[in-house]
Amino acid sequence: MAIEKNTVVSLSYKMYDEKNNLIDQTVDEPMVYLHGGYDGIFPVVEEALHGKNIGDTVDMHLSVEDAFGEIDADLIRVEDIKNLPETPKVGLIFEGEDETGEIGLYRVTEIADGKAVLDGNHPFAGMKIRFVAEVVAVRPATNEELAHGHAHSHGHHH
Ligand SMILES: [Zn+2]
Repeated sequence: MAIEKNTVVSLSYKMYDEKNNLIDQTVDEPMVYLHGGYDGIFPVVEEALHGKNIGDTVDMHLSVEDAFGEIDADLIRVEDIKNLPETPKVGLIFEGEDETGEIGLYRVTEIADGKAVLDGNHPFAGMKIRFVAEVVAVRPATNEELAHGHAHSHGHHH
């Protein structure tokens, strides 16, 4: 069947940075999302996939805005190491609260002089992305998936 609103789409994909370095890809399991404006995937990719069938591919260059967005300087914080729940290492991820009390993930990007730089931006924020994907499965969504507004698959937790 073709991809249309309220189908569940499985994709294998590869993401590249501007210099065509592979930065992310599906490995064992495809990426699964509910199609039709549920925010399950980048909207421009969703648009390009509309009407495609199993085996079809897309190869798209996404602007920063169409991918993970610009880097938000407000999400970068410097904390005293002694205030952190564990000894930070570059690459370690902490759960943290922003000024509005929203919980987010913060990546340690730098450590110096007893302080750590914590970055709450997506690791690919600020990057133009090349997104190459193949449709591996399409099926109608279940009523439960439509009620929840997302696909249910392996690894989906409630
Ligand atoms: Zn659900």
